[in-house]
Amino acid sequence: MGKSLCGAQKPAVTHRVPHPGFPLAAHRGPLHLDLSSSTQSLILNLSTTYTSLSHTFPVILVDSSIAMGSTALPYMATQPKLIFFTDFDGTITVDDSNDFMIDNLGFGRERRQQLNEKVLNETLGFRDAFREMLSSIKTPYDECIATLLKNMKLDPYFEKFYYWARDNNVPIVILSSGMKPIISALLEKFLGHKPGNHLHIVCNEVVPRDGKDINSEGGWQIQYHDESHFGHDKSIEIKPYAALPDSERPVLLYAGDGVSDLSAAAETNLLFAKAGKDLVTFCERRGMPYTTFQDWSTILSTTQDILAGKVSPADVATKSA
Ligand SMILES: [Mg+2]
Repeated sequence: MGKSLCGAQKPAVTHRVPHPGFPLAAHRGPLHLDLSSSTQSLILNLSTTYTSLSHTFPVILVDSSIAMGSTALPYMATQPKLIFFTDFDGTITVDDSNDFMIDNLGFGRERRQQLNEKVLNETLGFRDAFREMLSSIKTPYDECIATLLKNMKLDPYFEKFYYWARDNNVPIVILSSGMKPIISALLEKFLGHKPGNHLHIVCNEVVPRDGKDINSEGGWQIQYHDESHFGHDKSIEIKPYAALPDSERPVLLYAGDGVSDLSAAAETNLLFAKAGKDLVTFCERRGMPYTTFQDWSTILSTTQDILAGKVSPADVATKSA
């Protein structure tokens, strides 16, 4: 896209452009394209206002550590006072869709728990463990999706939160270690329609294995979002927002249930950690502030209070011992 859009040499970096939901056609200001890689984010700053993709633009590469105006950031497009970042599996859904597939279509629960134990003991990286688990699933990808559509359930109050967020200018950004087609299919089924523009999904992808069709036996594999330990460093997406000056920075909230949510949570004002799950254990171990939730009704009422200025994120957070 860099080449056709800009008429310039494509930068020699792995990139994804633009952010999901980026309002390309409607955009009238300088265009910033996120080129996140494992160690850094580069921003393509197209310094000329553009009106069509056929123009040729000068391209300037700048480091993301340079302070950016909030208009460059896609989730700031509507100037929200609060952005809600969230995990998907086990947080928006009741059960984890990947665990379900591994347990029922792959090598099973016992082997999964053995590998999880190694991850918790830090003798095996999450990235390698998760790939091994998913590799045990030989079921064609479309059949995996069909199975999940029959078995996964949405948190009973997420839909209410979703519409409240839409009506109150609160972007929802799903940061997931799962794969895009599964998340999109589940959300569409749960909501009864494709998600609106206020919901964004940043996650891993699925790609063919050994030249096969993904909808054939043993034909697919996960493609990680980045080179990080978790396959998807969720904090990368949040950092530019956390770095905004005080006068521009919205309140940043995060909800999750697992170890891969820790890095993201550290960037936000308040972490909602699902009661009884690994993330609570990790927060306790590391002395990280958090508040627990059972379902999205708690998250909704607390977020409403924060947006209304009735409480601050610091008021809500419990500092663990
Ligand atoms: Mg999760």
